Amino acid sequence: MKFYVPEWEDAVDARYDFVHDELSNLNKQERERHFIWDIFDYETTPIDGVLISREQVEDSRRKYDRVTEHGVYDDPQLNIPDWLPTISDCGAWGYKSLPFPRYGNEGMLQFYESLDVTVGVTIDHLVLGSGKEKGRLYLDERALNPDFTESDLPIELTEQVDVMVEEWPVEWPDLVKRYEESVYDVSTVEPFIHDDFEGTVHDILGRMDEDPRAVYREDDKQIRYEITLENAVEIRELYDEGDWSFRLMAAFQGWDPTTYGEALDDVLQMGYRYVGIGGVAGSQLEQVEEIVTEVGHRIAQFESEHETRIDTHVFGFAKTDGFETIGRAQMSSIDSASMLRAAWTGGNNYHLNSDERFDAIRVRYAAPGDDLEIAVKKSMLGQEVLHALRAFDDEDSISNHIRSWYTEANLVLDVLVDYLEEHRHDERYDARLLREITTEFRDDFEHGYELQASFSDDVRKRLVKLLRADDADDPTDFDEYLSIINTAREVAEGFPQTVERVEALEESSGEVATFKQIWTVLENYASSELIEDEDLLEGYRKTLRSRPWERCDCPICENLGIEVAIFRGNNRNRRRGFHNTYRFYQQFKHDLPKMLVVVPADSSLFGRNTVEEYLSDRYEDLWEAIHDVPVAEIGVLDANGVHEWWEAGPTSISLDPIGISEELERKSGRYDTVLYYDPEGETPFDIDSVEFVDKPQGIRDRILKRLGYESDFTPNRDVQIQLEEF
Ligand SMILES: [Zn+2]
Repeated sequence: MKFYVPEWEDAVDARYDFVHDELSNLNKQERERHFIWDIFDYETTPIDGVLISREQVEDSRRKYDRVTEHGVYDDPQLNIPDWLPTISDCGAWGYKSLPFPRYGNEGMLQFYESLDVTVGVTIDHLVLGSGKEKGRLYLDERALNPDFTESDLPIELTEQVDVMVEEWPVEWPDLVKRYEESVYDVSTVEPFIHDDFEGTVHDILGRMDEDPRAVYREDDKQIRYEITLENAVEIRELYDEGDWSFRLMAAFQGWDPTTYGEALDDVLQMGYRYVGIGGVAGSQLEQVEEIVTEVGHRIAQFESEHETRIDTHVFGFAKTDGFETIGRAQMSSIDSASMLRAAWTGGNNYHLNSDERFDAIRVRYAAPGDDLEIAVKKSMLGQEVLHALRAFDDEDSISNHIRSWYTEANLVLDVLVDYLEEHRHDERYDARLLREITTEFRDDFEHGYELQASFSDDVRKRLVKLLRADDADDPTDFDEYLSIINTAREVAEGFPQTVERVEALEESSGEVATFKQIWTVLENYASSELIEDEDLLEGYRKTLRSRPWERCDCPICENLGIEVAIFRGNNRNRRRGFHNTYRFYQQFKHDLPKMLVVVPADSSLFGRNTVEEYLSDRYEDLWEAIHDVPVAEIGVLDANGVHEWWEAGPTSISLDPIGISEELERKSGRYDTVLYYDPEGETPFDIDSVEFVDKPQGIRDRILKRLGYESDFTPNRDVQIQLEEF
């Protein structure tokens, strides 16, 4: 079983300065960025693959050009390690408001090939219920204009019909010609006028039927379902005619277990052996379980009739409560970014497991548009609490930390005046771009980082703007610099705010870094009228009492400690998301242990069409016993690595025993159990986590025992509740 994470530019600054909240390089193109696979090593990376959607890639022209030129494994930014498989799909969620998917089949195959991904997915269209009595009307946004907008649509229409407005593509794929010729190949889009929407709903919909700017469907679900299947047929034909380097997966849709089941039967008939359940992201656990159960039963039947194996992916689903069903229904892969995104989309954003979740402590930046004085105040409030939190984590005196910060902050302002007087006309400040001048300034002025940290980015930015304008021949009035610095100085006089109270507590208790002491600082911060986070304090109490970052062994928590439990900016929040993903993955591996069955290669593997052919022919009894086992992965091993059961036969085979042993050892680093089929009972290697099994049934028994499943493991489907529309 593999867990994939969708790729949405989830990267952090590899050398971020947490103490000063500074990026390592202000130029994004020159910054070293780390994705989740860069932060963890081979053994501990908490994902088994990456899901890359075309919609996401097309979000940025630069990214699209880059990854289609280099492929995802050689792309200088993504740089996905070659051992992580990749799935690419079109990203149906992104065009859900269009009447048709925006992509054509031929183009999709080319796209996957240029990305060099492991698996490409057929073009699906989300089956969405409309919830309205008369179905769904799609309108081309390009035909709406200031004289006739969406809000001008008659209310009787919008009450009875689900209206979806979206900018339509300039060119539709060929399939559209068959479904709706009136919208295909339209060269100019005339704007809608009021007359287009006059009359009864019946009249309007009648007109829309032939209108090149509209598509009306009474039963839109059914059409989306059919489009998805039709695409699967068409792309399969193109795929079979060509020579492609990726595996093709059929995504299928439905609206209840039966329609999903029927769609599955169709795509299996088309020859697909990797299928993907689409459209369940965000659905209730129970609904997904029913669909997965139905699909699992049909897959089991197909596998038994054809003595083959089917891989199934569940798109956008990774609820831990559903693991049991997912495993028993023989799903092979899932994907989700919900635990990653949960790190910055609400409370309970620091996860230890599905039961223990904590609120990260919000330390806010000044907001854009804040007055200079407010910006400085927010920064200083933030610094006081940040220094206190770090002292609390280190079990040092909180008052000492606050005092030494404050002393340094004051020093910055003193030295700054001298620096500016002396250097404001330096050549280094003649650059045109603010970014370049900021870089020069923060490196040349020895407190350039601290200035920003303590007194806000706003203060530094204003000074940098003055430096840019200031010229020896036409000097800026120095009072302009002083006015900014004096604002900072005046605000600084009101700080530090809590140090005396903390000191008193330290003296009376004879202890440092107690909960009461940190609470004094945090409560002062959260209840400040500029912050107003009192409502979050209850959550913070639990976080600080439990110190969850000390209970996590991920490299992020180990290296950064409490910073991970602070809600502040991409570099903390996204790292916390990576940590959440790691915690999720521990549970995933616990509930669905990672198991790999390896079968030794011999020279008869050479020249086979598929690895499956080798397995079913050379090891007939074994294949019969294990072709339908749940959760475990199956492959054939030679010194080049593991060739998965579905792959084409390798074009070269190496039987070098040292190479084989090394590959086996490397693989075992990522699996809970590696079962090596050893019919002669020779146990040729001595590797700790590898078990040698000489009987086919022994492998099957071993897998089911490890999972705690009975021999008839498929989940029960007699308690099926009919799905409501979703
Ligand atoms: Zn962690």
